[in-house]
Amino acid sequence: MSIHTTASRQSTGSRESRQSRTGPGRRASSWLRRTAAPRAARVRQALPRLGDQLLALLACAVLAPVLACRALVALAVTGRCLDRMAQVGCQGRRFERLYFSGDHAGRGLASLFNVVRGEIALVGPTPRSLADSAPAWRAEVLATRPGLVSPADAQRRVAIDHEGEQSVLRAHLQRESVRGNAGVLVRSLISRALYGEQDFATPERLSFFGVDVQNVTMDAAVDWIDARTREAGPVFVPFVNPHCLNIAHTDDEYRAILQTSPYVLPDGIGLRVGCRMKRQRLVGNVNGTDLFPRLCERLAASGKGLFLLGAAEGVAQTVADNMQARYPGLNVAGARDGFFNDEEESRVIDEINASGAAVLLVAMGVPRQERWIARNLERLQVPVCMGVGGLFDFYSGNIPRAPLWLREVGLEWTWRLLQEPGRMWRRYLVGNPLFILRVRRELRAADR
Ligand code: UDP
Repeated sequence: MSIHTTASRQSTGSRESRQSRTGPGRRASSWLRRTAAPRAARVRQALPRLGDQLLALLACAVLAPVLACRALVALAVTGRCLDRMAQVGCQGRRFERLYFSGDHAGRGLASLFNVVRGEIALVGPTPRSLADSAPAWRAEVLATRPGLVSPADAQRRVAIDHEGEQSVLRAHLQRESVRGNAGVLVRSLISRALYGEQDFATPERLSFFGVDVQNVTMDAAVDWIDARTREAGPVFVPFVNPHCLNIAHTDDEYRAILQTSPYVLPDGIGLRVGCRMKRQRLVGNVNGTDLFPRLCERLAASGKGLFLLGAAEGVAQTVADNMQARYPGLNVAGARDGFFNDEEESRVIDEINASGAAVLLVAMGVPRQERWIARNLERLQVPVCMGVGGLFDFYSGNIPRAPLWLREVGLEWTWRLLQEPGRMWRRYLVGNPLFILRVRRELRAADR
């Protein structure tokens, strides 16, 4: 208190002395500057709200026939047009979020009226219910106007929201712009149309063509691997995507290899699409590329060793250097290329065993790496052996990964296709529809 008083006195004193040094003209201009600054800030704050309100008004005008039809459906089915849900807005102000009554499509369109009223923004954090009491989250939400669409919506729908909404939102706010918000809206609409969820079941395990797949979050997968590194005896942990499952569909030996694993992880948007066809919810898109940095972080904390085997000469070592720079303390026990003949194999296995690594990543491509691990599993004294495909090429910087906006609409595969069309066209242009066809057939067979 006393510090505050002294400080304010000092500041008043210095202001007075400054004013006495200046004339009345200067005083007037400094007064103008002082009052103009908060006004400019207020205008800066009000402009985005006004923009959102105008856009929402425009959307209401364009969608007027749709809104009217949806209101009539609500009225006919439930006897009322709108449902109201109490939610918390900016600065803790309560407001009533509007929904069209009934469970039919377009229920949330009524929330456009909340945007027109200025209660929510077009893009912002998901508004919280009054009952939500997560304190840290609340503080952040209170400072930001909640939105009709959250920057995390698209990531949630394609199951890559591994960091949670809070961190996605923080990243979005750091570089918020009109263009950025428009991108969020577009990606959210696309992901809603392609991967929108209804009330799907969430089984512990998913099953495709006789292969059981864990339905887990990224965090749970990293926890499991971390715990497994403390146990003896090697286990094989593969990632499966539609390409792997297409091979498993026709190749009995490869399918049997996947079936020996106690922990198969779901990789990529294809599994999300397959789950949707089965009316099941995929909890996490646990792909190797997103899991790798988290695994390195965990291994750096536990001190357990990591061995990188695969890709062209020098690539694994570059990945080791990059990850050690990113995660100080990470113990890369060994790194070598994936091009060796049968005679060299024993020497490679001795090298891996002598390294004392707790996790072995084998990046030799599907299905070569799975076959190699299965053939040598009993000889490998490594608790966790994983097949990771082209992972090292991404983390060495040889092949750039698809930008986030493309991943958010589930189109990372188109990026890979454009990078290597000669090799990838069969995998994606033939393989993706084939996978969908096979899932459909599997569903029909289960119904019979
Ligand atoms: N590779 C290897 N040994 C081989 C053949 C391939 O180490 O005998 C490497 C290759 O250099 C590349 C990776 O395996 O880094 C295969 O990448 P791809 O993108 O094909 O993996 P996938 O798409 O099958 O996951």
